[in-house]
Amino acid sequence: MADDLLRRFDTIRTFAKDGKLAPHKPLLLLYALAKLKNENAERIVFNDAEDAVSPLIQTYGPFRAKTTVAYPFVRLANDKSNIWWIEPHQKNASGDLSLVEARDRRLQAGFSDEVLAAFKADPKLIDNVALNLLERNFPPSLHQDILEAVGLYLGNDEIEAVIRRKRDPRFRVNVLSAYYEQCCVCKYDIKMNGAAVALEAAHIKMHSAGGPDEINNGLSLCVIHHKLFDLGAITVDKLMKVRVSERVVGDWGRKLNDEFHEKEISLPRSEAMLPTPQYVQWHNEQIFKGVV
Ligand SMILES: [Zn+2]
Repeated sequence: MADDLLRRFDTIRTFAKDGKLAPHKPLLLLYALAKLKNENAERIVFNDAEDAVSPLIQTYGPFRAKTTVAYPFVRLANDKSNIWWIEPHQKNASGDLSLVEARDRRLQAGFSDEVLAAFKADPKLIDNVALNLLERNFPPSLHQDILEAVGLYLGNDEIEAVIRRKRDPRFRVNVLSAYYEQCCVCKYDIKMNGAAVALEAAHIKMHSAGGPDEINNGLSLCVIHHKLFDLGAITVDKLMKVRVSERVVGDWGRKLNDEFHEKEISLPRSEAMLPTPQYVQWHNEQIFKGVV
């Protein structure tokens, strides 16, 4: 039962074949899991989902993505996995939900009866499904933020266990070493007892989108620049120059822009370790909140 359920969630199409980022469905599912776990709410209301999830689609989705929750709210019910239910409703000319009707009627949707029964029989499954959705759709640096944004609280041990399970432990060591154990954006390089701290190996093309654990798909980044990179606030272009999104504001945003925008990153030890152009292009197009 548990395996079957996890498999069904795994079949939900979230990445298009060309690796286009489409986090709409996973974000709505995580929100619905949180409502179920926290409030025992078997149904969610369109208006509430719109308020809560649409901003998340803007933050964690690609630049210029359609940011309405209407798309997953309806489309999940068409999925072959049969995990989603939606109240009968009118469709507009293009076959989509009429936003006016959905809002006026406070249209409801939620997990299918079968899925609800499985969660009731084994409440731990809620956490497992949530972890799987995170693992398959988002970089690890954002897992905790997304859980907090939807209000879903899981044990840290569980999250770390899932992250550890699928990662190549040499990736971090190899990438950091390639970049002389410093952040390739700001040159941050603090060590304690001989070990680099708050310095991480970032995947350029996300692991969950098929990006490999290889030096050519990695950048050595301090925790701040890693998070900004995963959120698309910064990227690196094909000439290895940092680009800062125009959406970045604040005094520190200005500083980020003045100090690093269009400046070359600190390059790795050898040319063979340079980022692969296709991974860079993927990040430019799918993650960066701007046009490169
Ligand atoms: Zn840095």
